Parts: sequence; C-alpha cells; structure tokens
Amino acid sequence: MFPHYNYGGNSEYYIFVCGHCKNEKRVRKMPYTGNMCTYWSDGRIEACNDWQISYMQRCPHCGNYYFVDINEAERGFGSEPLDDGRVDIEEYAAVCSDREFMESLPPEVMSYLFMQYVQQYNDTYRRASQAEEEKKATYEQSRMFTEAVLFLTEFCRIPEILIADLYRQAGMFRKCLEYAADNYNRIKEEDLETLDRTRLLAIQGETAPFIIKREDMK
Ligand SMILES: [Zn+2]
Repeated sequence: MFPHYNYGGNSEYYIFVCGHCKNEKRVRKMPYTGNMCTYWSDGRIEACNDWQISYMQRCPHCGNYYFVDINEAERGFGSEPLDDGRVDIEEYAAVCSDREFMESLPPEVMSYLFMQYVQQYNDTYRRASQAEEEKKATYEQSRMFTEAVLFLTEFCRIPEILIADLYRQAGMFRKCLEYAADNYNRIKEEDLETLDRTRLLAIQGETAPFIIKREDMK
C-alpha cells in the first residue's frame, strides 16, 4: 500500500497523455483509505489505493478515450488536480455499446471494459452503501449489463465462482444454478461457501453483489 502524502495542499499526481491529440491531463492519486480491503462477488476490491483510477481515460481536450498504464505513467507534484481519473456508468455504457470501437480492441481490453461496466453498474445501482438514493437503471443500461455478463462468462478466463455469480447478477437464476451444479467439483474448497451463498441468493431471486471477505492489508 502507498500512503497518500500531502504537504501543505500539494501532492503527487499522475500525468496522462492523450494518444489522439497529445494533450495531457492531470489526475490525482486516490487517497489512502485504510488498511482493510473488501472483496465483492462481482470482483470489485474496495479500499485499495490507486485501483479506482480507470485504465481507460477520457481526454478533456478532444473527448476521445485512451488507455493508460498507471505504473508507467509520469508523475508530477503540485496542487492537487480535481480530476480523479474515474469513468462513470454513462461513459462506460457509451464505450461498451460502440461496437466498432470495442471490436477494434484486444480481447483483454474488451473484457476489462465489460468488467468495469458490471462493477460500475453495481456501484451505481446496487452496492448498498452507495445506492441509498434508489437510483434506477435505464432499460438500455440493464440490457448492457446482460451483454457484458454474457461476454465475460463466455469468452473470458475468469474464476468459476465469479461466472456463477455474474449469471445471478444478470438475473439468469436458472443458468446460475445449473452452472454451479455442473462445476461444483471444480470449485476450490475455500470458495464453496461463496458458491453456496450465490446459489441461495439465486433461489431467492436476488441480483445484488455481496461481500465475500474483508481482509486486513497490514
Ligand atoms: Zn485528446
């Protein structure tokens, strides 16, 4: 973990350069939020420094999207920029529904974007602590959620427990239960409790992600 140092209002930030227009933007480093890491059943890991800065960035100058490698990014030091480097659900939806753009990307980038969409959707509409306003997803957004889940479960190498829970989150309860039964023997012993939770919630018709574990990072 990398603590967030802040000397008299100045702090370290990232400098990302747009591949289209070559202009740069400054993105602040996420504050250090604590020692606990929370693992969710949609793959979201909360409270880890830097993890919330999106790999995909939108250029404030030309409006195009580009990808950044945070570990390689140049860093600067000075007054903290306002931009936190996050991409919201509408922006992910716009990108994920742009077929031409998506098909031009390597498969691992496509799966990253769909995964981000799923987690962002859950952040916005379902994760209890952040969904207090009872915001409702649009029909188009929930359709995109299902499309993202189908892509992730069919074409990506992701753990079986994640696949089962993604089916559930997309409301495909029967498919979730069938998949869980068919793959039960392939699930690691320590993940069986999580799988059982997924099955129970599928039977109850619940779609929200749940917390798998909290871990002390010290
Ligand atoms: Zn640009």
